[in-house]
Amino acid sequence: MLDVQKVRKDFPILNREVNGKPLVYFDNAATSQTPQIVIDAIVDYYSNYNANIHRGVHTLSQEATDAYEVARKKIQHHFNAKHAHEIILTSGTTHSINIVATGFTSFLSKGDEIIVSALEHHSNIVPWQMLCERTGAFLKVIPMNLEGELRMDIYDELLSDKTKLVFTNHISNALGTINPIEEIITKAHKVGAAVLIDGAQSCPHIKPDVQDLDVDFYVASAHKLCGPTGVGLLYGKEEWLNKLPPYQGGGEMIDQVTFEKTTYAGLPHKFEAGTPNICGGIAFGVALDYMNSIGFDAIAAYENELLDYGTQKLLEIDGLKIYGTSKNKTSVISFNLENIHPYDIGSIVDKLGIAVRTGHHCAQPIMDFYKIPGTIRASFSFYNTKEEIDALVEAVKKAQMMLS
Ligand SMILES: *Cc1c(COP(=O)(O)O)cnc(C)c1O
Repeated sequence: MLDVQKVRKDFPILNREVNGKPLVYFDNAATSQTPQIVIDAIVDYYSNYNANIHRGVHTLSQEATDAYEVARKKIQHHFNAKHAHEIILTSGTTHSINIVATGFTSFLSKGDEIIVSALEHHSNIVPWQMLCERTGAFLKVIPMNLEGELRMDIYDELLSDKTKLVFTNHISNALGTINPIEEIITKAHKVGAAVLIDGAQSCPHIKPDVQDLDVDFYVASAHKLCGPTGVGLLYGKEEWLNKLPPYQGGGEMIDQVTFEKTTYAGLPHKFEAGTPNICGGIAFGVALDYMNSIGFDAIAAYENELLDYGTQKLLEIDGLKIYGTSKNKTSVISFNLENIHPYDIGSIVDKLGIAVRTGHHCAQPIMDFYKIPGTIRASFSFYNTKEEIDALVEAVKKAQMMLS
């Protein structure tokens, strides 16, 4: 059982006011808030052992290197990767996806196919379009139904021996749908395709096991997991990461350099050119410790309670429609009010101290599917409360009254 009042004390930002009202933060799908223990880790790093890693013999450099490698091990254990060197620290999900998409250029030929889901974030569409332009491969899309679920019957039809790569998010950031990734992975492997899963939206709610999933690549960002911005991971199976060419050239990623020829460093350094976000990586490890100390089962159970409560309360409002009604979804509620632009609602509820997201949520194709300009998205985290949901419902009612 999760003690939400106790948990809330860990997050200093939850004490602040916005426009004279207590902050209600319902934009967790865009970024999560940061607990004091993670803030302390950042302050400790810059106060006590800020130094560049992997090159210095001096004490500070060794301390920073040790802490960074401890963080990599924490991430390895959290995701249950077989080896620590299968965890590449990146600047985030977008960077991780681009490493794989760029690397696949050398594996694809004209006529090959890449399958993506209709529920993708823009960061998960554009790199594949660019990859197709470079290689002459084709992009195929698994469509969605009105509930916001993937059409798995069509996925079966799209798969063939031309399929070289399949990617989908684990959970849609726009609608909260949990995709059946186990089935997606198994079926892709049957035709010999590799699978990349975007876990940016699932990791805050579910602890993934990359070995159990047998996934080839898995990516996520720390900032949606109570960690800082600008750091994330690329997990890849060792054999894939060995085959994949490096993404950027620079310091750290080389073994020997002469003007005639450079040989690359081994994993993970081959993909970590330049000075990384050292402090961010260390803080990412601390954030994972923090979330594990609360427990992902407790987090999921509590967030599901919030989802059920919020869904029920919001649907009591006249003319309110929820988009994404799958039974398999996390605590994201995307909605609209009849004849009112989502942006207008968002601005009024902000005046009342409530942070929601309005717009297309970097998922324009989903909005086009529903023929709407965007939605209002309230995404709940384990530090939110039912009282805050009541405040949102009141604020939306007030906005509706003012705008109609
Ligand atoms: C947030 C998000 C991303 C992008 O993450 P960045 O940290 O901005 O790189 C990608 N995919 C999904 C599903 C997301 O929710």
